[in-house]
Amino acid sequence: MATYERSINAYLRAKRIIPGGVDSPVRAFRAVGGSPLFVRSAQGATFIDLDGREYIDYVMSWGPLILGHAPAGVVRAIQTAASRGTSYGMPTELESELAELIAASIPSIERIRFVSSGTEATMSALRLARGFTKRDKVIKFAGNYHGHGDSFLIAAGSGALTFGVPNSPGVTEGTARDTIVVDYNDLDAVRSAVAANRDAIAAIFVEPYAGNMGLILPTPGFLRGLREIANASGALLIFDEVITGFRVGRGGAQARENVKPDLTTLGKIIGGGLPVGAFGGRADVMNQLSPDGPVYQAGTLSGNPLAMTAGIATIRGLTEDVYAELDRLATRLVEGLAHVFTRHRIKHQISRAGSLVGFFFTDVPVVDLETAKTADTELYARFFHGMLSRGVYFAPSQFEAGFLSAAHTDTHVEATLAAADATINELMQVAG
Ligand code: PMP
Repeated sequence: MATYERSINAYLRAKRIIPGGVDSPVRAFRAVGGSPLFVRSAQGATFIDLDGREYIDYVMSWGPLILGHAPAGVVRAIQTAASRGTSYGMPTELESELAELIAASIPSIERIRFVSSGTEATMSALRLARGFTKRDKVIKFAGNYHGHGDSFLIAAGSGALTFGVPNSPGVTEGTARDTIVVDYNDLDAVRSAVAANRDAIAAIFVEPYAGNMGLILPTPGFLRGLREIANASGALLIFDEVITGFRVGRGGAQARENVKPDLTTLGKIIGGGLPVGAFGGRADVMNQLSPDGPVYQAGTLSGNPLAMTAGIATIRGLTEDVYAELDRLATRLVEGLAHVFTRHRIKHQISRAGSLVGFFFTDVPVVDLETAKTADTELYARFFHGMLSRGVYFAPSQFEAGFLSAAHTDTHVEATLAAADATINELMQVAG
């Protein structure tokens, strides 16, 4: 029998001092029930919980760890950097080095600035877009997540075209009114929103591959259509590639789809597991930032030398061979899962972009938040716990993507597929 005793005790302790016992809500397992695992250590494709059990990890810190947990080269680089000082509040050459590496991979990025999280990157990019266009409103897509900045915490609704509705207390109505929510993959809705708000849209903000309602890929022509609408309306097109940057390939989703945004937000992989975000793009837009321009933005730990070092080491480790192997293994995983689900007649949809994977328990093709919500979340919760008890850690929510790393092997994938088969078998028996 699995025992989670130490994790449960650690959770009880945390709950007495940290709201919900966690520093980021999805960690609390609310969507699947049960008590979250607390981690003791991690290496490669696996982590060990407080009770000493080892798990194959398909969350990988929600995306940054594309080379696996604690890759030797990255750890060594961080150690060396740490011995030279952990923060200076003065510029270093590391910042230019990482900036040049990123710009060489993502040509739309002519200038870039580093921050400390994805949330900061998107907030800063939106402020910059507003300052540059001298407009206030932003179009975002239902089910896209851009961090927890006020302007982005707005839900869709029938009145969303003109008036946003805050979905978090603490977001003012004034802020909500400036965010227009439309359905992902719905170009007509974007056109209508733009027409209803003539000369008022500062930016169209989009996850080019939507990774925060499960994984949903754009329908053919969607991203190109956004580019055309932005051009015609004078709004900036901003790709939030916090997840997809360096994940779905060196050039991110924009290279795969051959659509060039005005600005791009990044995070996760470019910090190699340390806290980082960045936003970059057109030089004429970025030059509006302080101190050259009037749009203010700053950070005590921005461009932190340890984070820059981890990012540089990680990106240097991402060779074409690494991407090819990630592709092969991720294909094997999703095809294997599809095979298991089909054999047991479990309705499902599968998606994949590089080493970013997703599956929904539904027979409805998933193209947006509404169709994503047709997924059987109760089945997902039981699947999740069945896998957990067999030593496989998928995201603790149906509405999150899965991540592979260069440390995952065929052995891990085979073990995962065997665990999936056993789990589904068990669920079918319980269902009778
Ligand atoms: N944008 C996207 C697409 C994200 O997935 C996330 C976080 N998962 C963020 C922004 C926010 O990043 P952070 O959690 O680092 O603030």
